[in-house]
Amino acid sequence: MLKTLNLSKNILRLMENSKSNQNIISKIPIGVIGVGHLGRYHVKHYSTLKNASLVGIYDQDRKRAAQISKQYGTLSFSSINDLLAACEAVSIVTPTPSHGKVAEICIRAGKHVFIEKPITKSVQEADSLLNLADKKGVLIQVGHIERLNPALLTLERYALNPKFIEVQRLAPYTSRGTDVPVVLDLMIHDIDILMALVKSPVKHIHASGVSIMTNSVDIANARLRFENGTVASITSSRIAKDKVRKIKIFQKNMYVTIDFLLGLTEVYRVMDTHKEESRALFSAPLEANGKLRQIQYEKPPVKKTDALKMELENFLDSIAGTATPIVDGKAGRDALDLALKIHDLILEDLH
Ligand code: NAD
Repeated sequence: MLKTLNLSKNILRLMENSKSNQNIISKIPIGVIGVGHLGRYHVKHYSTLKNASLVGIYDQDRKRAAQISKQYGTLSFSSINDLLAACEAVSIVTPTPSHGKVAEICIRAGKHVFIEKPITKSVQEADSLLNLADKKGVLIQVGHIERLNPALLTLERYALNPKFIEVQRLAPYTSRGTDVPVVLDLMIHDIDILMALVKSPVKHIHASGVSIMTNSVDIANARLRFENGTVASITSSRIAKDKVRKIKIFQKNMYVTIDFLLGLTEVYRVMDTHKEESRALFSAPLEANGKLRQIQYEKPPVKKTDALKMELENFLDSIAGTATPIVDGKAGRDALDLALKIHDLILEDLH
């Protein structure tokens, strides 16, 4: 069951023994490059995580760097190289187009890197970072944070074999993130989740999209057929009135719906009527394939966890050698590869 999301012992340990992590004695000297909207939260967590020693930050916006360093009582370095000289590892939370170059500098300096998603803007850049990291013997972890969404983690208790998956991720327009098409900004979260759920190569992609507010694709839909027969439909939009983040998973005798925003997972399972009678039954008896069956409804408890904190703890533990990255560089590279294939098909469809 645990293999379905490939989270296994790492996650369970993080979720259940989060406090015991605080017993780890050695602190890893760490810094943050890029302290804008999201980078600020990396700084906040590293300033409190017991196995991190926050060395400082670097941001090319000196005013922003000064403000964040003051707020979290850390140093603002005047160059990436000065920061790297004092660190063993860094989070890279700069805009996506700069990930490749910034990460290359850090890896060349022999530092472990946590790169916010998407790993880079091109697969070539991602491949060259993976090769360099391999040579330098350093870790790359990628911030596909939704993999640690507590509502998704509840699926660890179910045996999943999805036949059809429908995903929707809609967000009101904001200029942040529009330096890349919606497929690289929003859809890539769901692509990473799908790849972790289905674990089969993609056989066929049909994709379409439109540009509404930017010169790039703002609304995208992709229909994927995996080699094992699973079909997935993903819709992503940054032109919506309200935020929506939902995934629906259909498989033989089971339907799961997750609302990532509400942190709500609901599971409907078809059971023989004589079994599990004490459990909450959703439907009156149904006749199916000559058998009397009923639908059982479950709302598995969703733990309240901070996904970013868990990701960063996992990064620190992976550096310390007590865990492996939940989303490693290869997983980040593969999600990017599929995202770019989808985006290219959208562009072909548009022209
Ligand atoms: P932002 O624009 O708010 O912040 C980026 C910061 O990086 C700015 O302060 C900017 O001055 C600084 N910067 C730019 N280029 C730099 C460079 N070369 N060196 C040092 N500093 C530099 O952006 P954001 O919304 O925080 O997004 C940053 C990254 O995080 C993006 O890759 C984005 O895709 C990712 N992100 C991930 C999630 C998630 O859910 N995992 C959410 C939001 C953003």
